[in-house]
Amino acid sequence: MSTCEVINPATEEVLRTVDLLDEAAVDDAVAAAVAAQRQWARLAPADRAGALRAFAATVDAHIAELAALEVANSGHPIGQAEWEAGHVRDVLTYYAASPERLSGRQIPVAGGLDVTFHEPLGVVGVITPWNFPMTIAAWGFAPALAAGNAVLLKPAEWTPLTSIRLGRLALESGLPEGLFQVLPGAGPVVGERFVTHPDVRKVVFTGSTRVGTRVMAGAAAQVKRVTLELGGKSANIVFDDCDLERAAATAPYGVFDNAGQDCCARSRILVQRTVYDRFMELLEPAVKGVVVGDPTARDTEMGPLVSKKHWESVSAYVPDDAPVAFRGSAPGGPGYWFAPTVLTPARADRTVTEEIFGPVVTVLPFEDEADAIALANATSYGLSGSIWTDNVSRALRVSRAVEAGNLSVNSHSSVRYTTPFGGFKQSGLGRELGPDAPLSFTETKNVFIHVGEPTN
Ligand code: NAD
Repeated sequence: MSTCEVINPATEEVLRTVDLLDEAAVDDAVAAAVAAQRQWARLAPADRAGALRAFAATVDAHIAELAALEVANSGHPIGQAEWEAGHVRDVLTYYAASPERLSGRQIPVAGGLDVTFHEPLGVVGVITPWNFPMTIAAWGFAPALAAGNAVLLKPAEWTPLTSIRLGRLALESGLPEGLFQVLPGAGPVVGERFVTHPDVRKVVFTGSTRVGTRVMAGAAAQVKRVTLELGGKSANIVFDDCDLERAAATAPYGVFDNAGQDCCARSRILVQRTVYDRFMELLEPAVKGVVVGDPTARDTEMGPLVSKKHWESVSAYVPDDAPVAFRGSAPGGPGYWFAPTVLTPARADRTVTEEIFGPVVTVLPFEDEADAIALANATSYGLSGSIWTDNVSRALRVSRAVEAGNLSVNSHSSVRYTTPFGGFKQSGLGRELGPDAPLSFTETKNVFIHVGEPTN
């Protein structure tokens, strides 16, 4: 069995060595999941709901431990990591209401009674990236379990620790053996086996568009269901009629949160030319004010990048002759630190079109509403975005015209577990979260019952 060293990105110390599973181990896990799912789906809806509430309560009792693990493994600032662990609890609580609400329909037909059922798919494979290990896992496993499925979770190689712990907490809370299993392993081994194993009926993949297209192509061989949550290159559009002070003060947090390792990062700031110079004057102190440092410190706003390899990838976008407008600060010494960086490149530069996935933002001027929309849409991605304007008509017009799944006006909000989340174009396929998420882990079954004619 091969192993993987898990490294603290703020100190470069080895935290733990994790065993990476092979294909045979995945096959054993699938067999156990198939058996567990049959029992789970037979439980009364109220009992499944109660089991998910117990899981949520167990997560709640371990928020501090889960947060500390994420700080160590991913370098997330402690306040953010606590929010993430609480979010897992909240997502479980929200979907614990679903088993008792997955109602079908009764449809008027001639000659009988017609009803629909939402049947679980069976075993669902969830493959997660390293940027938000716990939260993204919960978006898959909570609604899938609620809909009566078993779940196999494969965390990213660099950040498996909180997922492994959640797997144990599920058992401690009383969820049956085999129902929710965490399988650390290499993407091309464990993740790929989710795609090829016939008893895995759906794959929820969050990660790069490159691997996502491969997952989708592989799934086609079995007409396997997929949900894909992929990359982004989202725009933050600043019109000249907005509250410019607030737009500039919040822009760094729209892109540098989680050190820019966020699929929803507003990594292109588009500013109307009439206010461009003033916006840049306001942005500079806001960027320099981002507190980058020790993720265990309460006042830290941004930690390190996740790994040396990723640090090298981000650094390649900022060569010595890069058009740097200004930068924030970052600690020296051990750790994969990268100072928040603002670039002012040409429209066609690769820093404008490619997902950097680090604390690097490009700022571009635009002329008018039509130019802003064209620029925002000039990408193969379509995940998120922000629109800053005090004109309600413009806010609505631009929101409807930007090709992205999650937009916010005069704010940078993206994810609420009560609302649907997902991407247009190459940012993904399908939606997670919101009231309908459990339905994407079911098949609709239609049953017609013949009703005979009266005999008298
Ligand atoms: P990645 O595509 O390299 O890896 C994601 C996961 O896929 C990992 O668990 C990896 O082991 C696995 N994997 C790798 N090869 C595989 C294969 N052949 N078959 C099956 N699984 C395989 O992505 P990453 O670098 O971990 O994450 C960063 C990317 O994730 C960014 O592009 C980011 O935008 C995206 N992301 C998207 C969302 C969203 O909701 N849209 C959220 C977070 C991250």
